[in-house]
Amino acid sequence: FDDQPALQPKAALRVAELRELLTRYNREYYELDQPSVPDAEYDRLFRELVDLEHAHPELKSDDSPTQKVGGQALDAFTQVTHETPMLSLDNAFAETEFDAFVHRVTERLDSASDIAFCCEPKLDGAAVSILYEDGSLVRAATRGDGQTGEDITANVRTIRNVPLQLSGNFPRRLEVRGEVFMPTHAFEQYNERALAAGEKVFANPRNAAAGSLRQLDSHITAKRPLHFYAYSMGVVSDDCDLAATHFDRLQQLTTWGLPISNEVKVVSKPTDCKAYYEDILNRRNSLRYEIDGIVLKVNSIAQQDDLGFVSRAPRWAIAWKFPAQEELTIIRGVDFQV
Ligand code: NAD
Repeated sequence: FDDQPALQPKAALRVAELRELLTRYNREYYELDQPSVPDAEYDRLFRELVDLEHAHPELKSDDSPTQKVGGQALDAFTQVTHETPMLSLDNAFAETEFDAFVHRVTERLDSASDIAFCCEPKLDGAAVSILYEDGSLVRAATRGDGQTGEDITANVRTIRNVPLQLSGNFPRRLEVRGEVFMPTHAFEQYNERALAAGEKVFANPRNAAAGSLRQLDSHITAKRPLHFYAYSMGVVSDDCDLAATHFDRLQQLTTWGLPISNEVKVVSKPTDCKAYYEDILNRRNSLRYEIDGIVLKVNSIAQQDDLGFVSRAPRWAIAWKFPAQEELTIIRGVDFQV
């Protein structure tokens, strides 16, 4: 017992050190699109901080990177305030952590049998919010810090599979959320061409997507092979009957012309989520785009509403990350593009 007081200052020092490091890495990753450490290293440090804050609740702080989403919106862009926050996702790195998620959800909903899950690939790109009014694309924004993003409307308008006009029986006002990414093949081709022309190449497809989206000249974005998949709805006007499950809402989005991944699937048992994880992991390298895991969401919207949110993530979803495939690629002598 005697060593408790000595442990606390040691923990406080490490917490301060981790917060400083993670704040720097967040800025490099989200604001400069130029990470200096691999995601796996970031995730290790983040987890260490979560564990320390859990073990020492007196060290908790609203300023901690564990309580925040993303990074600051850049001043070069007009700022957009999100009508409902764009949050992050809790992560699981092992099966036991997925089991703990299922346990938490089951306990809170008090219903062990009746929980279906929507399983989706976790696309490795950049989150965007796209707003349609009377069917026309009127605004698009980055996630930013979750509350305030950057207005990137002109850039998103150049993405070929983002409809400028919705079709069918769409709501008067619809906010769609999803991921903009650069398909792997297009990313490789782009880099080959850039290298041959002596231009800057991208470090990875995620960096390519995020950097391309935040160009001040939309003509540059238009030349980048970007793609979009929707994964949820944000604000929707009440002139439309929305489906009662997440999966069916994604199908509704497709009827209005919005693209979704064809790997999305509903399962009724946690063991089926595990089978989905294994299946996608095995096929990871043959998919057209990079993914860093899968996302599992409680499918019923009523159950999602019951579960609610914590500060930076919904309680009804988890990102189950794949083992790190590669550490940060550093090609000596090659200038990377941001
Ligand atoms: P996240 O990537 O763990 O999860 C949230 C994001 O997942 C959403 O914002 C959305 O953009 C995306 N997503 C993809 N497919 C989705 C789907 N089907 N449904 C819902 N969302 C989907 O969280 P984050 O806050 O964006 O990023 C944190 C991660 O970024 C870290 O775990 C780390 O790997 C990486 N990161 C790395 C560094 C670094 O320096 N290398 C720094 C900061 C963050």
